[in-house]
Formats: sequence, structure tokens, C-alpha cells
Amino acid sequence: MGTWDYNIFWKEALNQFKNELSEQEFSMWFNMDYETSGDSSMLLSVPSGFYRDQVKQRYQARIETKLFELSGQHITVDFEIKQRIQKETKAEENKTESEMYLDKAVKNTKFFTSDKQQEPAVRERGAHPQLRKDYTFDNFVIGENNSFAANAAIAMSKNPGTAYNPCLIYGGVGLGKTHLMQAIGNLAWKEKNCKIIYVTAENFTNEFIRSIGEKTTQEFKNKYRNADILLIDDIHFLQKKIETQEELFHTFNALYDANKQIIFTCDRPVSELKNLSERLRSRFERGLNVDLQPPSYETRCAILTKKVEARGVQIPPEVINLIAKNISSNVRDLESSLTKLIAYAELTKKPVTLESAQQQLRDTFGSPKQNNVTIETIQKVVAEYFSLSYTDLKGKKRTKAVSFPRQMAMYIAREITEYSTTELGMEFGGRDHTTVMHGCQKIEERLKAEPSLETTIQKLHKLIKDYNS
Ligand code: ADP
Ligand code: MG
Repeated sequence: MGTWDYNIFWKEALNQFKNELSEQEFSMWFNMDYETSGDSSMLLSVPSGFYRDQVKQRYQARIETKLFELSGQHITVDFEIKQRIQKETKAEENKTESEMYLDKAVKNTKFFTSDKQQEPAVRERGAHPQLRKDYTFDNFVIGENNSFAANAAIAMSKNPGTAYNPCLIYGGVGLGKTHLMQAIGNLAWKEKNCKIIYVTAENFTNEFIRSIGEKTTQEFKNKYRNADILLIDDIHFLQKKIETQEELFHTFNALYDANKQIIFTCDRPVSELKNLSERLRSRFERGLNVDLQPPSYETRCAILTKKVEARGVQIPPEVINLIAKNISSNVRDLESSLTKLIAYAELTKKPVTLESAQQQLRDTFGSPKQNNVTIETIQKVVAEYFSLSYTDLKGKKRTKAVSFPRQMAMYIAREITEYSTTELGMEFGGRDHTTVMHGCQKIEERLKAEPSLETTIQKLHKLIKDYNS
């Protein structure tokens, strides 16, 4: 593949140090430039000998550890002095100034206690840089809604690249896709010496676009094609991103041919993604596709109990039941209700009681997701238009008088909101996503036979638009 180029790892290392260190510390010491790469080494340039000695002592091991985490390879770092003369004649003066500043800082030892041990030379694996520490299998409650996905996930982290490859985990917002995906990464990271990359489809896209602009696409390719386990979150983001799809297609093939594990998540089944190249779609559909369903009442209670324990707070069981009863759509909402109660209790220094919880969470229970148009608005408008009750529209009845308007509501919701059929199913009385798909199909068929229906749909659109104003 020609000469090595570790620049992309250096850039990412810099990004991460920027987040990990205080602004002052970072801007003071990370004034280094990438120069070139050797076989398993990298050369950085620094402004002076003094600087080089300080940085070597303080950061070399840490930089190397980071590069190892990012690249999966042992890359040693060397420093070269490169005086930055150009620009103004004042350069020399500036240099002295900044060195004086460094000198002072060192004497001050405000940022670094002098007896602080250097990073150990042995590179032990710390936390994975891109994975959340708490997204583990231990913290993931397995219920009937997710047990198949969870078990497949455990199997993948124990034996990546074998039985379930690739794997796509799909389901509505806040049902644990990211948690599960990162749990795979965390376990494999702990138990195996392998290179794991976690990236959201959005960041993958942005990084790719940036690499085109900076003419570093080769580095980009190297980075992703070097992974043992590649985790790409939220691939629905790739809709319409033609070039990124193309790039991912090739990345996929390279990894797949090398038996590397590839895992994706998506907020809907792949068949429902629009503007996706057929060949990429067929890659996503290969291997294992598993879905996460909303948790049952019992599982919701178990999840809440676990979160309460993890935070070490006291919440009475009747409050847990209250939340679990009222919030059924997803786990993220469960969690945020809990967070709200805990914050309130801490603020007021009063224990959480059933009564205070009811009061606190009234708003949360009442209103569905904030969005331009809510599904509830659509349902209410459509129900009213067809002289039905809102409850019937969402309910179980399957008479023609109800099911046609219900299908209309589904169809319109599909048209004008971003909700997936999985989510819509939930909002329509806990129906399966296939029911929503079927409903929309029915309307499409009728539209063909009965073009006047289009007028009705237009009318409904207008009513929905005017509903809130
Ligand atoms: P998604 O990626 O599907 O939108 P997340 O993985 O971000 O959802 O999950 C939302 C929140 O709910 C996270 O804080 C996650 O830890 C939590 N969560 C989801 N499912 C479970 C579960 N089965 N057990 C414990 N926590 C869960
Ligand atoms: Mg997610």
C-alpha cells in the first residue's frame, strides 16, 4: 500500500486530547506539527529543544498509547526541532516569550504535580476512546423485547466476524441500539486485542467529505479498512448521501472479505430506507437483521430499577411503577423522567414521593414528542374529518369505517413526519411496523384506482397544518 501515513490518527489524537485536557494545557503543549510517518513511527516537529524535552517527558507515552488505541498499532513518536521562523521578524521574540511562559508554568507546577508518575511504558488498554464506558452488557436489561438482539450481540463480541456478519440492529428512537452496539465494542475491547472503530453514520459522512477536501481520502480508507470490528450507528443518515454510500460500500466489501465484523444500526428496517443504492441495501440486508421492540411494562420497571441502583438514589417502588405505566414508548424517555425527578429531589433536598413525582412529570406524561407536526395532531384531525373518535382511530376496532381512516392517518404520517413505521406502529395503539406498511400500501393502491382521494389527502394536509395555528 506504499508508504505509511499516520496523519489521520494524529489528527484524531489531537482532537481527543483537546477534549481531555484543559484548554490551557492543550494550547500550551500541543503545539506540534505532524511531519511524516515511518514503518511504525511518526515524526512530529516542535518549536524548540526545551519544548521537545518537556513534551517528551510529559506526553510521549500518552501520545503513543492514544495512537495505539486509535490505530491498533504500536506507533512510536519522535520529535524534530523545527523553528518556525517565517512571517515576521518578531518570531524570535515570540519564541522566547512562549518559552518563558512555559518555564514559569513548569516552576509553578500548577498543572502538573512534579511527583506525578509518568504514564507507564507498558501500554495497557484504557477505556476505548469512542465508546461510552457505561454502555455495557452489565448495564443492559434483557427483556422479551430485546433478548434475541442482545444474545446475538454477546455472541458477536465473543466471536467477531463469524456467525453474524454483518449485523444490522434496527428499531425506534431510544430503544437501546447505540447502547447495545457499544456494549459489543466494549466487551470485545476488554477481551480481545483487536481494533474497534465506532462512528455514527453522520460523522463517517463528515469525515469522508473532509478527506475529499483535504485530499486525504487514502488515509480515510486506511483507517476504516483496518478495523477488526466496525460499528456504524444510525445508517438512516446515509439516505441521499450518494458518494458516502459508495465509499461505505467499498469499505464494507474490504472488511467483509477479510472476515471482519461489521455492525450497523438503523431506526427502521432497511427495506424502508429511501434513496439508498441497491447494492448497499443488499449489503445491509445480508447477514443478520434484528429488531429492538419497545419494552413491556415489566421490563420498563426492571430498567428503571437498574438505573436507580446505578445512580445510588432512593426512589420508592410506586414511583417506578408510575413512570413505567405512563411512559411506554422508549427507554430514553423513561430515563429522562427519572433524571428529572432526581434533579428535583436534589434541588429541593426532599425525597421523591408518589405525589411529587406525579406533579413533576405531568407535562412529560401528557405530551408526545416535540416535533413540527405530532402524530397525535394527525390522528385527531383525521379522526375528526371522518367523524370518528380519536380513541377509536388508535384503538383495536377493525371495521371498515375505522380501518380506512386509520390507514389514511398512517399514510399521511409517513408522508409528512420523519417517524419510522416502527415508531408509527407504537403510536397507533402498539401495532407492528408491518401493519403500518400494509396500511400505507392500501392507500397507495386506492389512490391509483381512485384519484379523487388525492383531494381528500390535500384537504387533510391543510387541516393538519392549520391545526396548531
Ligand atoms: P437508540 O440508539 O436506540 O436511540 P440508546 O442506545 O441511545 O437508544 O438508548 C437510550 C437510553 O436508554 C440509553 O441511556 C440506554 O442506556 C438506555 N437503554 C436502552 N435500552 C436499555 C436496556 N435494555 N437496559 C438499560 N438501559 C437501556
Ligand atoms: Mg442511537
